[in-house]
Amino acid sequence: MTRHFPEETMFHPKPDPQSPLAVRVEDLHKRYGPLEVLKGVDLTAREGEVVSMIGASGSGKSTFLRCINLLELPSRGRIEVAGEELALRPGRDGDLHAADPRQLRRIRTSLSMVFQSFNLWQHMTVMQNIVEAPVHVLGLSRAEARDKAEALLHKVGLYDKRDQYPAHLSGGQQQRIAIARALCMEPRVLLFDEPTSALDPELVGEVLKVIRGLAEEGRTMILVTHEMKFARDVSSQVIFLHNGRIEERGAPAQVFGDPQSERCRQFLSRTC
Ligand code: ADP
Ligand code: MG
Repeated sequence: MTRHFPEETMFHPKPDPQSPLAVRVEDLHKRYGPLEVLKGVDLTAREGEVVSMIGASGSGKSTFLRCINLLELPSRGRIEVAGEELALRPGRDGDLHAADPRQLRRIRTSLSMVFQSFNLWQHMTVMQNIVEAPVHVLGLSRAEARDKAEALLHKVGLYDKRDQYPAHLSGGQQQRIAIARALCMEPRVLLFDEPTSALDPELVGEVLKVIRGLAEEGRTMILVTHEMKFARDVSSQVIFLHNGRIEERGAPAQVFGDPQSERCRQFLSRTC
């Protein structure tokens, strides 16, 4: 008998139920003009948790991550990061705005996002890509930032590429650099938006290996992914988003093994 998910190789971060909340989102709505993309989404992630978000294209996954990362502000709802609630006030346009721009900037530094398309600066070397934000946003000295960057490059296995330009690296290597860059900001929470979707299949594994290592270290992560086996392996909770609403949520064994929602069942039968 073939066992596809042997228990001994699975890693489910089980954060202490008493561990502090890293992210709490309540009743999040987001509209673009007449289009309501998110229709009341809730999420709680404790420190050390890996929350995977799955769902069809257009269901609102990226919009949700952009709202958590405060790249977008919600139209309604509450967002709390590391115990601090973002103060929001309604603007004249009917959308919510940050009541205190300094608080917005501070909370933003608690979160780092890794995008599908890497988003490295092509005119900068690997090292410059990583140290730029810690120097300019966190106020680290160049020497401090370089030390941290070197350690992170060792961690993602790319120390020897530190003086190369991104164009000379494979997609998998570029994404590992993007992860090192995100880590160098020392975020409380890492957000991943389909980090392997732009990669050739043979390069997916090296990136997932790095992300798995971060899960094992106890990093708090919210991960949008189409890699269902990986989500099943590393997550503490899985959320299935459909048309801007949470259709199904639970432990990976439950969502993947015995989904209650018919839509989730259909989605998984198409993708797994
Ligand atoms: P997913 O990441 O699940 O594929 P998205 O969050 O990217 O979904 O998109 C959800 C819906 O919101 C889509 O219908 C998309 O066209 C729409 N949308 C996303 N961003 C914007 C925007 N900036 N302006 C208008 N519509 C948007
Ligand atoms: Mg998306």
